[in-house]
Amino acid sequence: MKNFLIKATLLLAAILCLDVYASGQSFKALVLTERGGQHEGFVSAALEWLGEFASKNDFSFTEINDTRAIDSTYLSKYKVFIQLDYPPYNWTDTAKAAFEEAIFDGTIGWVGFHHAALLGDFDGYPMWKWFSDYMGGIRYKNYVAETVSGTVEVEQPGHPVMKGVGSSFSVPDEEWYTFDRSPRRNVKVLAHVDESSYSAATDVKMGDHPVVWTNEKFKARNVYFLMGHHAGLFENKDFTTMFGNAVLWASGPGNWFPRFRMLIHVNNGVEQAHREFAADAVRFFREMTIGNGFVVDTTDNPDAFNDETLRTYHVVVSVNDNPGHTDAQREAFRRYMENGGAWMGFHAAAYNDASTHWPWFVDFLGGAVFSRNNWPPLPAKLTVDNASHPVTKGLPGSFISPENEWYQWSPSPRMRENVQVLVSLSPDNYPIGFKDVVENGDFPVVWSNTDYNMIYLNMGHGKRIFTDATQNFLVCNALRWLMRDRFTK
Ligand code: ZN
Repeated sequence: MKNFLIKATLLLAAILCLDVYASGQSFKALVLTERGGQHEGFVSAALEWLGEFASKNDFSFTEINDTRAIDSTYLSKYKVFIQLDYPPYNWTDTAKAAFEEAIFDGTIGWVGFHHAALLGDFDGYPMWKWFSDYMGGIRYKNYVAETVSGTVEVEQPGHPVMKGVGSSFSVPDEEWYTFDRSPRRNVKVLAHVDESSYSAATDVKMGDHPVVWTNEKFKARNVYFLMGHHAGLFENKDFTTMFGNAVLWASGPGNWFPRFRMLIHVNNGVEQAHREFAADAVRFFREMTIGNGFVVDTTDNPDAFNDETLRTYHVVVSVNDNPGHTDAQREAFRRYMENGGAWMGFHAAAYNDASTHWPWFVDFLGGAVFSRNNWPPLPAKLTVDNASHPVTKGLPGSFISPENEWYQWSPSPRMRENVQVLVSLSPDNYPIGFKDVVENGDFPVVWSNTDYNMIYLNMGHGKRIFTDATQNFLVCNALRWLMRDRFTK
């Protein structure tokens, strides 16, 4: 038996060694370049240097000069995407969507240079908002047109990209782009340029001026270099060391976090009790991200309901307003849901009556139309309709929910075959209310339309909604269930 164990251990060790050897540095990189123009010198020097570096390090690369070939299948063949001075515009929509997905899911690493941060309105193209966020929420502002030399100071000497790089080094003849603000609050800065070292002096400065950084809010290992104007960079050992480190590092496995991205839409123009709930909901979900489990963004702009924005979120949360007012916003939300998006709606998010004029949304809610409510807001006994569903698993059969203005629906969504009612207001509450009294009737509170990845919870009026652990448990379960596919990646 002991002998067998030793043999098995040796065999395992041999397999592991073999595996390490076989995967080694052997991978394919995709290099997106712009040829000609003022950066041709840098690009051709980079390709020549990369050719030698690749053969020494046992990987290969493919050069493309536009994004027409790029889709998800195409990207899946590559471990690293090197954006060699190619700007973040003039990409096909297919390429953009495939790139966003691969970067978020970490199926490809990314190394970008110089022009990759040309974020703004250029050559008739609007700014790619996702890319601006990816670069740390920046917009291009200006550049040192006459090119000057500057001293780069390394801030994270322990980062793999900085291995073997001097603590500071000089970069000659660089354009030193400036941005509307420093990306620092959104990214990890690996190096900055000391603007007081500029020679010759220039007024084009931004104060805190990061020049190498990585955005850890994406699974992909990624690094951006602001440098990349001049072929002379390839005579700079510190620069080529960083370049090489970045390519090898980015070819490795992505981070495990974040698992998904959530967008919370808040309407700040609604009644006070619905604004109070919205603020509590934002805080509640933000607190769940401690440790980088997922990303929460909030917006009070209903124009966020557009295809380009929605496709970058795995779940949209509507806390106090319908997911869209104009036809364009509503259609974008419909496409998002029909393409597999996830939605969690609370309380007034589902409110609809004769004035809403959105039949698709009523159907999406399982046919539910607002009928009446209790007043004032009151606690109520809720009962679990389906205890085997992941959203209600572990809940007691009934519990008292904190005070809420409860909406009753007519017709009840329970009438629809494609609706699963998970929690209802117990008839034990009847009559409920002092001013407005509800005395009877079917009263679903939490349900899902099984044709979509959606859940609606009627709670959401006032400051007390998140004061009950049982109910908070239900909300956590609901989110965990909506994002179930994101826990296998
Ligand atoms: Zn309300």
